[in-house]
Amino acid sequence: MHLLPSTLPDEYIGSVIRRKKELFNLGRLSRKEYKIKPPFNYRKTLTCFIRESNPTLVTLADTATLLPLAKSLGLSTNPLTVITPSDSWRICRQCITTDLETIGVGYIRRHHLLSSIKVCDLHGLSLDEICPSCNTPIKKHLNSSFHGCAKAFNLNENENKLQAANIKYAKFVRELLHCKVHNANFSHVRHAIYNQLRELGYVLEGDIHWKNVCVDLNNYLGEFTHKNKIDFSISQLNPITSLGSITKIAFFAFRTTDAYWQSIRETIDDFNHL
Ligand SMILES: [Zn+2]
Ligand SMILES: [Zn+2]
Repeated sequence: MHLLPSTLPDEYIGSVIRRKKELFNLGRLSRKEYKIKPPFNYRKTLTCFIRESNPTLVTLADTATLLPLAKSLGLSTNPLTVITPSDSWRICRQCITTDLETIGVGYIRRHHLLSSIKVCDLHGLSLDEICPSCNTPIKKHLNSSFHGCAKAFNLNENENKLQAANIKYAKFVRELLHCKVHNANFSHVRHAIYNQLRELGYVLEGDIHWKNVCVDLNNYLGEFTHKNKIDFSISQLNPITSLGSITKIAFFAFRTTDAYWQSIRETIDDFNHL
């Protein structure tokens, strides 16, 4: 009999290890227990989980971290890319409620950890970083306590004008996370995004007019801000650009993963003909 929790669909690596610790009363989860740095640096504590539960590290990184998203955007080999975030642990109230009904346990989904995602792509509900029932941050919330808390969850959607765009963005992210084509090269990604933004008219004196990109992106999705100011750090679009920022810019430029991959393919063709 398998006593150890196995990874559930899109379950975040921190969530599966936390469930195991809860099950065996092993105390609080610390970040070093699930942290993986690209390309594949991790601490010994993770080795123990891998040995006991039998996934390979490659499988675990592909199914339970943001690595596939980083692969799709050309950032998967950069040690500065955060694929196992420690903040923004969040839940969709409807996802948790459905999980409890269908599999008997509520868990944290990896795509809900990307802080730029505001809503669940399946249910349209805004994500909660603090449990609306007991006011505990989801990062510290016991998975087993969702049973009690979910009974009081309000499952009504809060309609707002940015919701449709944010659902579209959340779907874009999940498709990139599940894309098997993977492994775009960062210079191709950068080139494709620059070309597309140029075509959309964001040009100022031969360069990309980043201020206008930020303003329009902010109007479209809301909250592309840093400490109440629009974040202009994206103007470099270099490999240290955060995964969240580049994902948002790629979405803003292309809106669909089909358009994104089409452009990446065309860019590769262009590079090959140089
Ligand atoms: Zn949901
Ligand atoms: Zn709670």
